[in-house]
Amino acid sequence: MEYVNSLIDLIGNTPLLRLSRSLDRPDTAPDSGTHDQGPLVLAKVEYLNPGGSVKDRIATRMIEAAEASGELQPGGTIVEPTSGNTGVGLAMVAQQKGYKCIFVCPDKVSEDKRNVLKAYGAEVVVCPTAVPPEHPDSYYNVSDRLASQPGAWKPNQYANVNNPRSHYETTGPEIWAQTEGRITHFVAGVGTGGTISGIGRYLKEQNPEVQIIGADPAGSVYSGGTGRPYLVEGVGEDFWPETYDRDIADRIIEVSDADSFAFTRRLAREEALLVGGSSGMAAYAAKQLAEELAAEGRTDAVIVVLLPDSGRGYLTKVFNDEWLAQYGFPTGAVAAQTVGDVL
Ligand code: PMP
Repeated sequence: MEYVNSLIDLIGNTPLLRLSRSLDRPDTAPDSGTHDQGPLVLAKVEYLNPGGSVKDRIATRMIEAAEASGELQPGGTIVEPTSGNTGVGLAMVAQQKGYKCIFVCPDKVSEDKRNVLKAYGAEVVVCPTAVPPEHPDSYYNVSDRLASQPGAWKPNQYANVNNPRSHYETTGPEIWAQTEGRITHFVAGVGTGGTISGIGRYLKEQNPEVQIIGADPAGSVYSGGTGRPYLVEGVGEDFWPETYDRDIADRIIEVSDADSFAFTRRLAREEALLVGGSSGMAAYAAKQLAEELAAEGRTDAVIVVLLPDSGRGYLTKVFNDEWLAQYGFPTGAVAAQTVGDVL
């Protein structure tokens, strides 16, 4: 019989999927085995992790390292100010290993996101957004206070070396093996920088010629901005996290929200890939890179782009025409068919 003992054993080993129609090239029809007109573009589909995102990888590695160092003791409590994918990964691994989890999040975080964490048995503490950071009820102060309780441990994904290390030890080697060492370019969005730094370091150690490309929302520090005027979630920062290796990226491609969201929707409609906005952003950068390489005659290039999470968490945003229209983005909606057209 073939089975695993813990959901943790299902983390990683995600597949690579060749992008086809969304690249707008005749040689990339889904049934075409060739890539004569441009580089092969392969998506690393991270929503197939059991918690639904790339962050399952860092959650396991951060928890296991804290167990080994004694920072996290049996029956301990994990405290992290997050409501996103890292929270889900931590809640899932904590449930399997018998730890308590407390997540601290600002009140603007949607009820759906809080309920996902609670579903795994985690506790969610909601803090008011409308207070300054030095206020005792602020998001920062509440999480620091909870993390200083006996038995508590704060992973701190923005400064934890095991965040990039998890990618150096798992995602990087997977990509190298899956492409049989033929990868020439790696593209990823940058949030904490853990993904690009860990994978980038591993790939460059195997072949220093591999180009590492960061995709960044226009306005974020990685592409020369100062902070958040952008709406795409999970990527871009207004500070330089310790987990980001400033020497790793050969290049940063800046992508607008409009292009990120439009391409996210194309991935669902043309590749049946229901992914989040940061995936659309990274894939758009990969497409742009593929076009540049094709123009230089580099049709032999192999580009791998990492898609961090599923589109299920963004149904009321990226996939909602009213939400897009409210921010002035084109919806790209298919003209409504009448019953007569269908019958
Ligand atoms: N996309 C999404 C949806 C994320 O949650 C994150 C993590 N913040 C990223 C991309 C970026 O990954 P990293 O933090 O490793 O740079």
